[in-house]
Amino acid sequence: MIDKILIANRGEIALRVIRACREMGIQSVAVHSTADSDAMHVRMADESVCIGPPVASESYLSFPAIISACEITGAQAIHPGYGFLSENARFVQIVEDHGLTFIGPTAEHIRIMGDKITAKDTIKALGVPCVPGSDGCVATLKNAKLIGAEIGYPVIIKATAGGGGRGMKVAQTAADMEQAFMTARAEAKAAFGNDEVYIEKYLTTPRHIEIQIFGDGKGKAVHLGERDCSLQRRHQKVWEEAPGPVISEAERKEIGKTCAEAVSKISYIGAGTIEFLYENGEFYFIEMNTRLQVEHPVTEAIFGVDLVREQIRVASGLPMSFEQEELKINGHSIEVRVNAEKLPSFAPCPGTITAYHAPGGLGVRVDSALYNGYKIPPYYDSLIGKIIVHGRDRDEAITRLERALGELIVDGIDTTLPLFTALVKAEDVRRGSYNIHWLEHWLDGTYQT
Ligand code: ADP
Repeated sequence: MIDKILIANRGEIALRVIRACREMGIQSVAVHSTADSDAMHVRMADESVCIGPPVASESYLSFPAIISACEITGAQAIHPGYGFLSENARFVQIVEDHGLTFIGPTAEHIRIMGDKITAKDTIKALGVPCVPGSDGCVATLKNAKLIGAEIGYPVIIKATAGGGGRGMKVAQTAADMEQAFMTARAEAKAAFGNDEVYIEKYLTTPRHIEIQIFGDGKGKAVHLGERDCSLQRRHQKVWEEAPGPVISEAERKEIGKTCAEAVSKISYIGAGTIEFLYENGEFYFIEMNTRLQVEHPVTEAIFGVDLVREQIRVASGLPMSFEQEELKINGHSIEVRVNAEKLPSFAPCPGTITAYHAPGGLGVRVDSALYNGYKIPPYYDSLIGKIIVHGRDRDEAITRLERALGELIVDGIDTTLPLFTALVKAEDVRRGSYNIHWLEHWLDGTYQT
């Protein structure tokens, strides 16, 4: 069994992993940049190592700094959290070359799923339904136009190396193709250093439904139902829930089984998410994330499992602690992502927290690294906390969320809290009737601060 884990991350997810370690009797090592010396993950871990300056490329993304921190502290394994190095196949390879354990999938699986075209080809061959589109990457405008004509407009041009909702452009008609294609390529080059793009049918009113899977690396895999993450802004999730308000038990079983079987065929290890767009009762694969997701707590709430604990177990060579038949849904859970951002522009708003009070009570979980007096550095992601509620059903979860939001105090900076206090009251949200475009329209039309 692993007895010391280094967490190559910061913020709430670093805390999340430290908590799992503590419950398992495992020592935790925090790493931090000079901008994070006073961060909560540093205070909460058993040990900490400063790995470099504020800029992530020289600290949280620095292979030598992180590997050296393992060597100095004697940590045998690295948990990457999400973001940063969590889906970096080269890093995983280097970790293994140093005789350390990466808590996550193999470098090969990360590589396959990290390239969206290879991912789609692989997943399709494993029997999972995909969005109609180009076979592989599209190198010329001429081909892009041919494909557009073949699959029918609107289409979406996506970066092969894309992620985080970036590197995507929609062409509504053939006339938009040139501009969309060129911009998508230029943006992909700038953001990912790779201008390869591919084309998919653009679904106009889908929901974003993702299936949580988990494998033991030995050919056994289960699914833990779906999450509905349709409330998005700029292709980024702001509100997630489980189970999905519009997914039936029969659909869940079928798509869940398809996904679990697919990953068992490749002996996938650890947590993974297969993302779909869902329209008119059909699921269309868009990508697979080979890591723990930001929104994993809603799945933990309804299934009563600790996904980080399971990740650590399988990385240690132990079996998963549940069987598919034991995984039963209990109630409904919602997560909202509170960001340090100023509304209505959503501009990042770092600064000093002058007062902080977290909500609590029955069915409320807060995953946050904030504390009174904490100075949010300007260098990293603007997520400052997640509020996760659990109720017996969706209505109770919404009521509880509204109550919890009312208790949250974050003074000194602007946050996206007012967005959520308005959203919980919105009729369509209460009814669960929205698609991936709903939030953007709602923000355009009615939302004012
Ligand atoms: P990323 O890796 O950047 O998160 P995804 O492929 O997961 O990219 O897509 C992110 C979001 O973009 C989806 O949740 C959805 O809102 C939108 N999207 C992606 N593909 C399509 C498509 N074919 N049709 C409509 N919307 C899409």
